[in-house]
Amino acid sequence: MHGLISDRPLLISSLLEHAARYHGNTEIISVDSQDKTIRSNYENVNIRSKKLAQALIKLGAKKGDTIATMAWSNLRHYELYFGVSGIGSICHTINPRLFPEQLVFIINDAKDKFLFIDIDFIPLIEKLMDKITKIEKIIVLCDKIDMPNSSIIKNLISYEDLINGENGDFDWPLFDEKTASSLCYTSGTTGNPKGVLYAHRSTVIHAFAAAAPDAMNLSARDVIMPIAPMFHANAWAIPYVTTMVGAKLVLPGRNLDGESVQNLIENEQVTFTAAVPTIWLMLFEYLEQSGKKLDSLKSCVVGGSACPRFMMEKFYEKYGVEVLHCWGMTETSPIGTINRPLAKHYGQSFSERLDVAVKQGRPVYGVEIKITDENDITLPNNGKDFGNLWIRGPWICSGYLNIEKSETHGEDDWFMTGDVATIDEDGFMQITDRTKDVIKSGGEWISSIEIENFAVGHPSVMEAGVIGVFHPKWDERPLLIIVKNENAKVSKEEILDFLKDKIVSWWMPDDVVFVESLPHTATGKIQKLALREQFKDYKF
Ligand code: AMP
Repeated sequence: MHGLISDRPLLISSLLEHAARYHGNTEIISVDSQDKTIRSNYENVNIRSKKLAQALIKLGAKKGDTIATMAWSNLRHYELYFGVSGIGSICHTINPRLFPEQLVFIINDAKDKFLFIDIDFIPLIEKLMDKITKIEKIIVLCDKIDMPNSSIIKNLISYEDLINGENGDFDWPLFDEKTASSLCYTSGTTGNPKGVLYAHRSTVIHAFAAAAPDAMNLSARDVIMPIAPMFHANAWAIPYVTTMVGAKLVLPGRNLDGESVQNLIENEQVTFTAAVPTIWLMLFEYLEQSGKKLDSLKSCVVGGSACPRFMMEKFYEKYGVEVLHCWGMTETSPIGTINRPLAKHYGQSFSERLDVAVKQGRPVYGVEIKITDENDITLPNNGKDFGNLWIRGPWICSGYLNIEKSETHGEDDWFMTGDVATIDEDGFMQITDRTKDVIKSGGEWISSIEIENFAVGHPSVMEAGVIGVFHPKWDERPLLIIVKNENAKVSKEEILDFLKDKIVSWWMPDDVVFVESLPHTATGKIQKLALREQFKDYKF
């Protein structure tokens, strides 16, 4: 027998509809791609998103079609989140920092039908035009008068022109809440980027979980600024959460340097924000130079990479900001764990509290985690044993787009994260290492295997291993470790020179060291964990 409760679907459009109805005057502030500040509110944005929906339907967008965005965190991008998903199409947010070959791969893999881009990215797309044949229309996120000329892309459309032809008299359609809503590719794995396809249901229940007091603790009284870009796991889903609670939203655009971030926090009285550690370091540098403060800011999420202890100390002691250490992935929508103290931690000294706060936190409701040894045996939660970290729950991906058999998805809905962790008696998880062969630098992934493959192409190199080593600004940077061929003479400079035209500059190893041999597994693979251990005290 079914329960006697309405099965009205949980749809992304309902978040905006609610905000427009009950928080209609609440502001949305956005820095657009030409650095102009735009002020709007939920009522207007709902109408504009509906106009966008009408225009998309006229252009031929259908349920299940993939519609791509390549844009900074700004108002029009936010409207696309709702206008595209709201009609049952899939909003594919593309990370413009990927390489041209990766961009071509994901645009074709996702079968993107239309592409909405900020002006800045037109030169990037121009270079790919002959390889991305499925895209039917390209719409530029600007006014008609700001439209650029492109001799390569024919028939560019202005976003404002497109939506101005509509009246906004539109009811968001109802459909199955399990319908796909949005798509984000992760490059945090080896091989080609992999598509993570979110659903309306997963997005809405994730937003409920994210807003809860022991998670981000957000309400209509907050002013929320996501700094994590809208092409990174939907700005960590913060635009959805903010809309759900009807808080004032600040979308910071493309400039994420310390001064721009501090100005927005101060001018808009931001109370909550979220970013990777590299952003906070740039902010600290500016605060120190300028003597400015973060008076309105109550709390901030640090995630994407581990939050160092000194960063927490500084936020708490110097700026009075509460730090929430979070762990998550593109595959986990992204919240997995968040660090909030328990009742038993009150009364502890600051230093004792920090001992706990530097861990990546406890699972929020909906999420289960476990750690296993190399034989997939579950390890105890004792804060000491470490093993492969697995996660499952209603907003964790169950596979990757267009990949028949995912190697990281196990039985009973468990997903293997590629992180290595401990879990203590209270459920606080701490990342200790990573099994996936990628390096995270300033929040973006670098593939160690690709650098190794190029390095072994040098005639003097017998074997090459690349590992991520701690870096004070970028969190991790690649270190290239080389075994030379017998009697070969080659210098670090020659190796770097050899790599220069093969990999982009931000993938270049920060240093090259020569060793006699590399550690290997029984099957002959380079043992990265042992290599990282060997170089754990290495400093650039
Ligand atoms: P992405 O899918 O690009 O968001 O990357 C997810 C990965 O980033 C995780 O699997 C971790 O390796 C890493 N990560 C995310 N948050 C943290 C954190 N708080 N501490 C350490 N590593 C993290």
